[in-house]
Amino acid sequence: MQRLVPLALAAAVAATSVSCGEEAERRPNIVLVSIDSLRPDHLGCYGYGRETSPELDRLAAEGVRFESAVSTSSWTLPAHAALFTGLYDSTHGLFDNGLRLAPEHRTLAEELQSAGYHTAGFFGGPYLHPTFGLGDGFDVYRSCMTTVPAELSEEDLRRESRAPEGRSHDDITGPRTADEVERWTSERPADRPYFLFLHLWDVHYDFIPPAPYDRMFDPGYAGALDGRDFMGRPEVHPGMAPRDLEHLLALYDGEIRFTDDILKRVLDSLRAKGMLENTLVIVTADHGEEFFEHGTKGHQKTLFDEVVKIPLVLHWPGTLEGGRVVSDQVRIVDVMPSVLAAAGVREKPTMAGRDILPLARGQSLEPAPALLELRADKREFRALRTNELKVIRYGRRPDGRELPSVGLDLAKDRPERQPIGEGRGDARVDEGLRRLDRTLESAQALRTWLGAKATSADMDPELERKLRETGYLMDSEQRE
Ligand SMILES: [Zn+2]
Repeated sequence: MQRLVPLALAAAVAATSVSCGEEAERRPNIVLVSIDSLRPDHLGCYGYGRETSPELDRLAAEGVRFESAVSTSSWTLPAHAALFTGLYDSTHGLFDNGLRLAPEHRTLAEELQSAGYHTAGFFGGPYLHPTFGLGDGFDVYRSCMTTVPAELSEEDLRRESRAPEGRSHDDITGPRTADEVERWTSERPADRPYFLFLHLWDVHYDFIPPAPYDRMFDPGYAGALDGRDFMGRPEVHPGMAPRDLEHLLALYDGEIRFTDDILKRVLDSLRAKGMLENTLVIVTADHGEEFFEHGTKGHQKTLFDEVVKIPLVLHWPGTLEGGRVVSDQVRIVDVMPSVLAAAGVREKPTMAGRDILPLARGQSLEPAPALLELRADKREFRALRTNELKVIRYGRRPDGRELPSVGLDLAKDRPERQPIGEGRGDARVDEGLRRLDRTLESAQALRTWLGAKATSADMDPELERKLRETGYLMDSEQRE
């Protein structure tokens, strides 16, 4: 059952079905993997031509693949906060750098910990650092970055200051993550089910996969461009040579295959120790990546599908029938309610998402729109997406001028290149924008109702430097 919320907030709080008693008794282990910056259309199981993802393809073939899964935003911090709270960004409040998740918000790890799970998290990128609050509820929470330790003790900082100038983009964290998980398997209490969270970072730019992944998908390239400094180097621009852009995509794909092999290593290790029996494995991402489809590169710039669509695969042999593909739109905020349902947690915190296990079992649910939000370039972008239509409010410019809102017919215009204007006779767009406004108001009202505000993160100067280097903290002039 869901904790009571005022009726007026019903739009923001989708009904969450009570998990069936049988699953509550079995108490599966949960493995949740977030692969940073991973576009679904670059994965074999989503129809990509290159062999970037044999392990994920296997999980999808034996499990359930969601064709149309979307995040809440196009960058790491708000998306992971949504993954961990089941709340939209306007409710959890982590829009900006330097904010910490309010301790009043119940995270997935806290809920599972309270339900008797042993909880362990391993992360590879700076926004998963516990200073942002996403480590709350983990019995074990370890940084797998080589440059910013999870506990910013004075000793760590001294060591850090002596270390060679390192950058998160140069960091290769997958092997270390696999090593840390291996170490944890021998330490964990074996008398309880476990929740294991992995944040795999290497697909995030820069695109510098180690050999043999660096040449795997473009062995014949003879040009001078490599995948370093993707965001900063001037040669990487919208009019760049197509052959060089092709090479960058091959390097991105190399990072995906490298990470897929890390995922295989982790799952093989868990299986060898008998730790994958009755285990729900979920693989997803926080957002995608842009390669000039709409003129910009990276992420945290737009709310187009190349950055908001994410993969979602559920693998739970014996419980979920293998090979199912779900075309209904699902959202990153649906992951937490689904995991809690699978774990048999009956009293759940208020969430915007809903349990999508019925879809994974072949049942139907009412279509649910996805609220997308982004603060960038001193503007607030908001969008509402269904499988048929996306409407976007581009917000006000710093000079106060309201930019025109648009609609995008996703059924006819998948690349999102032919916007349909507001107030031009397309009733779907006008209705979509009204629905967007209502959904946003509900999400904001829920935040007020929850009475929780994101407090300021205690941003260590070293972490701030790291975030600047990773392109997250930028002056607006530096953006494209
Ligand atoms: Zn990210």
